[in-house]
Amino acid sequence: MSGLMKENKLRFILILAVLMVFGFMVTSLTSYFAAHNSLSKQISETALPLTSDNIYSEIQNDLLKPIFISSLMAQDTFVRDWTIQGEEEPHRLVRYLAEIQRQYKAVTAFFVSEKTKRYYHPTGVIKTLSPEDNIDKWYYHFRDSGEEYEVNVDADTANPGKMTIFINYRVFDYAGNYIGATGVGLSVNKVQELIRIYQERYGRRVLFVDRQGQVMMASEQYRGGSIRNTPGLEKIATQILAVPSGTYSYERDGKTVHLNARLVPEFQWYLLVEQEEKTVEGEITNNLIRNLAVSLVICIIVISLAHMTISRYQRRLEDMAMNDKLTNVSNRHMFDAVFDQVERTSKRQNHPVSLVMMDIDHFKTINDTYGHWAGDKVIVAIASTLKERLRDSDSIFRWGGEEFLILLPDCSLERAAGIAEDLRRAIAASTVRADSENITVTASFGVAEQGINEDSQQVMKRVDHALYAAKDAGRNTVVRAKFV
Ligand code: GH3
Ligand code: MG
Ligand code: MG
Repeated sequence: MSGLMKENKLRFILILAVLMVFGFMVTSLTSYFAAHNSLSKQISETALPLTSDNIYSEIQNDLLKPIFISSLMAQDTFVRDWTIQGEEEPHRLVRYLAEIQRQYKAVTAFFVSEKTKRYYHPTGVIKTLSPEDNIDKWYYHFRDSGEEYEVNVDADTANPGKMTIFINYRVFDYAGNYIGATGVGLSVNKVQELIRIYQERYGRRVLFVDRQGQVMMASEQYRGGSIRNTPGLEKIATQILAVPSGTYSYERDGKTVHLNARLVPEFQWYLLVEQEEKTVEGEITNNLIRNLAVSLVICIIVISLAHMTISRYQRRLEDMAMNDKLTNVSNRHMFDAVFDQVERTSKRQNHPVSLVMMDIDHFKTINDTYGHWAGDKVIVAIASTLKERLRDSDSIFRWGGEEFLILLPDCSLERAAGIAEDLRRAIAASTVRADSENITVTASFGVAEQGINEDSQQVMKRVDHALYAAKDAGRNTVVRAKFV
């Protein structure tokens, strides 16, 4: 195979590979980025609001009931009458609170009288509140807030070690004067559990913050702080707390976090649900890798197929370029390469090389008499005769229309002339059948041995002259070229 052909094939396959790799990369990356963009959109516009809706309705189930109970307590005529009438027989209110606690399965139920500052509890009067006592601050804060009710997460006055969600409701006398606060408390465990489930199952973080940004309930890492000084969140905290709801994204530890915020009006708390983009992006990246792997396999298959096909056509082209189609001997183009090879080997081994040039006699007459087709048959028959009678190491070239050149390695002039004579006789003795005609032809031969320091052109010239001489001598004869 020639170097140029090899180079062309390599270049073609390289271009094919580059085109395919480029095409696959472009489509894979385009779909990667498209998926990536729609992922951000999907998280912030669909997934997070849905989670937020779910949590919101769970809270409504779990927390709105206590608010309703507290409201009933605040409206209860018994509570109001009993307070207005001077808080006599405290066990009556204590029994009422115990009944509320039992009926509604609350952690606690309470009443604080504005007049006496007594803290009533299902187990009795626990204490008298004092503005100096830290644990009682909530009461004064609530009293002065002017809010009808509030939801608080606080240590229980009756049980300071335990965090409880309190609903504090304002109690009025019939003239509308403030006379105390009442409500129930519930365990934070249930809401905490909800937060944990959402965190684990959906990879989403859930937290509740009050209107100032203070974290009221959340998983571990947020508890006790404020979103105003949580890394990443602090930049959008003011924005979140300024409006009732919104969708945001911010950067945390180099990852994009999508966040959905909404105000829960009953509590005056914000529910924040957030999700890191990375958790789902893994899938998109896997997809990209899968796409590229499939593309690679396709590339390899196509390139191998291309390589095989090209090689096959190349072999056929080369075959066509090297061999004569009619006679299946080598054609003239092959001579230089073969001669070079033979010349080199012969020089190394100090062997003689001879050439025989042969031309069919009066071939025009054959064509004219029997037709071109019959002429071809004669040429094929003569080529067969040559092949039959020569060694495998000898080379036959179709030199012209009905001219053959024979290259005889390791062969002196004497022996070459003998071979030519043998061929001449064989040709003259054979007949070729074409269209029920028996055609007989003869051929003329020139023979030459390559001289020392003689190149191929020089010896070719001599063998050509010898052939002319054979024609001149009356044809059907062998003429040796003069030795140099
Ligand atoms: P000479 O004895 O002097 O060689 O006479 P010639 O008629 O053979 O003369 P020459 O060799 O010059 O003519 C070759 C002729 O062979 C010319 C052409 O018509 C014919 N010929 C050449 N190639 C082919 C071929 O492939 N098939 C056939 N049928 N004829 C061919
Ligand atoms: Mg001829
Ligand atoms: Mg000729």
